[in-house]
Amino acid sequence: MNLTDPLRVIKGIGEKTERDFNKMGLFTVEDIIRHYPRGYDVFEAPISITDLVEGKMISIEASVISIIQVKQVRNLKILTCRVKDSSGSLNISWFNMPFLKNKLRMGYHFIFRGKVVRKNGVLVIEQPGIYTREEYRIKMNVLQPVYALTFGITNHAISKAVKIALGELELSKDYLPKRIVKENKLVSYKNALEEIHFPKSPETMADARNRLVFDEFFGFTLALMTLKEKKTVWTNQFNMTDREDLTRFISELSFRLTNAQDKVWKEIKADLTGSHTMNRLIQGDVGSGKTILAALALLLTALNGYQGSLMVPTEVLAKQHYESLTGMFKAYGINTLLLVGSMTASEKKKAYEKVKTQEADIIIGTHALIQEKVEYNCLALAITDEQHRFGVRQRESLTGKGDHPHVLVMSATPIPRTLAIILYGDLDISVVDELPANRLPIKNCVVDTGYRPTAYRFIAKEVSAGRQAYVICPMVDESETIEAENVLEYTEKLKEAMPADIMVEYLHGKMKPKEKNDIMERFSKGEIQVLVSTTVVEVGVNVPNATVMMIENSERFGLAQLHQLRGRVGRGKHQSYCILVSGSGSRETKERLEILNRSNDGFYIAGEDLKLRGPGDMFGIRQSGDMEFRIGDIYNDAGVLMKANEAAKGLTEQELSTILKENPPLAERINHFDMGTL
Ligand code: ADP
Ligand code: MG
Repeated sequence: MNLTDPLRVIKGIGEKTERDFNKMGLFTVEDIIRHYPRGYDVFEAPISITDLVEGKMISIEASVISIIQVKQVRNLKILTCRVKDSSGSLNISWFNMPFLKNKLRMGYHFIFRGKVVRKNGVLVIEQPGIYTREEYRIKMNVLQPVYALTFGITNHAISKAVKIALGELELSKDYLPKRIVKENKLVSYKNALEEIHFPKSPETMADARNRLVFDEFFGFTLALMTLKEKKTVWTNQFNMTDREDLTRFISELSFRLTNAQDKVWKEIKADLTGSHTMNRLIQGDVGSGKTILAALALLLTALNGYQGSLMVPTEVLAKQHYESLTGMFKAYGINTLLLVGSMTASEKKKAYEKVKTQEADIIIGTHALIQEKVEYNCLALAITDEQHRFGVRQRESLTGKGDHPHVLVMSATPIPRTLAIILYGDLDISVVDELPANRLPIKNCVVDTGYRPTAYRFIAKEVSAGRQAYVICPMVDESETIEAENVLEYTEKLKEAMPADIMVEYLHGKMKPKEKNDIMERFSKGEIQVLVSTTVVEVGVNVPNATVMMIENSERFGLAQLHQLRGRVGRGKHQSYCILVSGSGSRETKERLEILNRSNDGFYIAGEDLKLRGPGDMFGIRQSGDMEFRIGDIYNDAGVLMKANEAAKGLTEQELSTILKENPPLAERINHFDMGTL
């Protein structure tokens, strides 16, 4: 068996299962052994049904006492049955697993292991694993891998396939040079893979993880180095000078630039009018006012007779930037243009024409900006906002559009400077380390779910005072589809709880771009007062009139992401509030959320988050979505990142070529490197 073989070479994976695996993005043997567990489970002795506690993973030993019911809810097939033990009975349900119907016969006896949740006021177990007493005994008190699942593939199916693959692959020769393995005190690659999937102990698992994190960062550095080799510092070939109009523009803003904005603007201006092409990252906390810096750079470019572009990750954000920049630039005779994927073919064609003839000076849009058909007349500045949402390659392709334009990328991810230098390679870094002075600090509170009615009343009160609110919906693990269902359900409940004249709408990732835009636009205009949403609102959106951010299941987010979400409020002159609803009353949760309560400083929060997240919950909390790695975490594993970076940079030619020869899939990935896919 080879790493690059298709999955069907693994015994037990037939055509249909292979297709399901493919849907999860797993195609080769290597893909599946690199599908690392999300966490581990320890199977404890079953407990009585009467002892169940909401929110906990538990096992019960019980008999099936009802016929299996199958219900179709939208595109979900929900299977339900009732079970009992000597203490009591309850309902159990599964999503999209119709095949269980044959297994769960009336009177049969199993151990069910799953999470206890409250549905319509009663406790149920959702999506539990099913075991015979013997199967369960073998697993007891051993760390069991828990995998990310979708498309009806069970955890068992994955662990079985991984086990077979690991047994048959010839991995005893480590692809890393012995020297590096030794210097960095790494376990072997083979051992790491075995222990990450089937750990003998928490200690061996930690060693395994350390090795795999090292490998991931090592590969990442190699990929960045390869990208950089193809790149050189270019002489600035755009003739730009400072303009009177710019001074006027700044003096006519409704606010004064903060000292930090002023400092960064001077750095950008020096680049644009200097001798070399700009390659700069602007880092600044949410709400620090990065957009205006982009606006200034674009204006200077356009006033000098060149084109500038601004690329953002979502259409919602593109529209918003487009509207605000159009307003700002009108008085200066600068033409703006919006270019997004949801435009019709003929709209796009017209837009391309305007880009080509320079009828448009400033082009704002999504990935659509880097489509092959877009031909710029004289692109001198390419800006990427919320850059962590893009891959390196996407960033590069925008750069490749003009004749080596200046490049500016903006990010709110609080990364320590030492790490930023590694992660962003060749970029110069500017930091906007100050918030506008007129802001009232956001008031925070951490509450349990029992507080919901009070929170809803509070939101209603804010709405009647003319304000707006976001409610981030409870999180669901299983899939985006279920997440969408969940938003719908929650919105219905919220509508019932709110006074009838309050407009409540929802937003989730599965909606069409046009629907999303429409909802965001109506929210921006104040036609919608309460927006129920998944985390899709997280990046960049600016509705200064919104003053309440209520986050359900806040314990399940990383602090950095909570901080981003909270950054959607407190952007205007009104007092804003963040209500963190926690489904868990544990001390750790309280301690973590308390950090947000205490501080509004993204750097501080990231640092504290790091201190609190011990090695035990390294997979536990969903990552923030920024700089996402398969297994490494740039905050927790900063030390490993440094080491891996040094190791990669210190390779001899000979060593590098051996590595690439020994690990062809890695070589392939390095060649087609894009952030997040390594
Ligand atoms: P971010 O850095 O998160 O992208 P934005 O650029 O969207 O932040 O700015 C957030 C809000 O702050 C906007 O409404 C913007 O108009 C306002 N703003 C920006 N700079 C200042 C300033 N110096 N003083 C007051 N308000 C500002
Ligand atoms: Mg922004």
